[in-house]
Amino acid sequence: MKRTRNIAILGATGSIGRSTLDVAARHPDRYRVVALSAARKVEELAALCSRHGAAYACIADASLAGALESRLRALGSGAKVLAGAAGLLEAAALPEVDCVMAAIVGGAGLEPTLAAAQAGKKLLLANKEALVMAGPVFMETVRRHGATLLPIDSEHNAVFQCLPPAFLAGDLEISGIRRILLTGSGGPFRSRPRSELGEVTPEQACARPNWVMGKKISVDSATMMNKGLEVIEAHWLFGARAEQIQVVVHPQSVIHSMVEYADGSVIAQMGNPDMRTPIAQALAFPDRIEAGVPSLDLFSTGALTFEAPDFDRFPALGLAYLALEAGGTAPTIMNAANEVAVAAFLEGRLSFLHITAVIEETLQQIAPAPMRTLEDVVAADAAARARAALAANRLATLAA
Ligand code: NDP
Repeated sequence: MKRTRNIAILGATGSIGRSTLDVAARHPDRYRVVALSAARKVEELAALCSRHGAAYACIADASLAGALESRLRALGSGAKVLAGAAGLLEAAALPEVDCVMAAIVGGAGLEPTLAAAQAGKKLLLANKEALVMAGPVFMETVRRHGATLLPIDSEHNAVFQCLPPAFLAGDLEISGIRRILLTGSGGPFRSRPRSELGEVTPEQACARPNWVMGKKISVDSATMMNKGLEVIEAHWLFGARAEQIQVVVHPQSVIHSMVEYADGSVIAQMGNPDMRTPIAQALAFPDRIEAGVPSLDLFSTGALTFEAPDFDRFPALGLAYLALEAGGTAPTIMNAANEVAVAAFLEGRLSFLHITAVIEETLQQIAPAPMRTLEDVVAADAAARARAALAANRLATLAA
């Protein structure tokens, strides 16, 4: 009989947060939901806390703490309200919590995710931006505090499953590994000519071919910046150099990624495209649990196809490789510019093609600096956001 694990879910109202709650609720004997957080969705957060019996409800927008308190009491929940940046840090490091799902979107998730690492938790990482923007600081925090880091991104979770059991990050050659093959669907505009991409709308960009995700990652998927972020994520998680990470466009999203060994073997992890699989794998690791995901029907899946990524139509991927090779704060700058540009696109202020233009311009304008501390990350992030906002405003005005 396994002991019950207490979990905290940062970003509980989002796509990953809800999938995590779905998996946890299938195993009430194994998982107890202790803390849930949201940015502003008071109604949804209170309802989730009430349904899952959470002891803590954390709202990032502190001005909504009173509204959350009232809503919880109306639903009969006794959850303690935590609020603001301090509340998120507290929720991430609660002594009674064993396992933290880091599923806040974007750079806002960095400090709470680091707080969970500092508290030595089992850390389930969906918030890839936190690792991309702070790679060396993040990995050092995990190491120093003895946290267990497990990837939730389906590609990295797949790679993790294909690695030898005793794999240590950075030991690719020693483990006989030649390459990591990161697959991606290619996004909703995979086969659109570049001449049509200037006109695409946020609704079209968020119409995901294979599964529903939050808006920010949906746009990242459409520009292929998501794959770029994942290349940098793979670098930090597995100690792979840029040339050891190959992106493979695989529109069916059945193979979630692969590891190629020195003897020519390629081990793939397959399954239906459903985030509950990697979530369940990481939650239960090293056990396996039911995730509510149906069996993969290979007969109806039919052909699996593979294409090389098109760096001309989707330059964001190339920018990510360049940022990885430049090192220091270059990925921080890239990530910040991307977040600003994607937000402007989602607000209807910036065209789709200008998202990458903003990132490129910001990377050209700010020289990367060495990254040693969290302060280096925070400073680079702030400077890049300010520059990117200027670039986005200028490009938006030009296009108007
Ligand atoms: P969603 O947009 O669906 O959810 C984001 C969550 O973060 C919500 O709970 C939201 O609260 C909260 N949040 C947003 N901004 C803040 C903030 N400033 N401070 C605190 N909390 C905040 O995102 P996803 O679930 O799609 O993605 C979450 C992370 O997981 C991202 O980093 C993404 O890249 C990664 N990921 C997602 C996958 C997917 O299939 N969705 C797959 C692989 C990785 P509220 O609801 O109140 O706004």
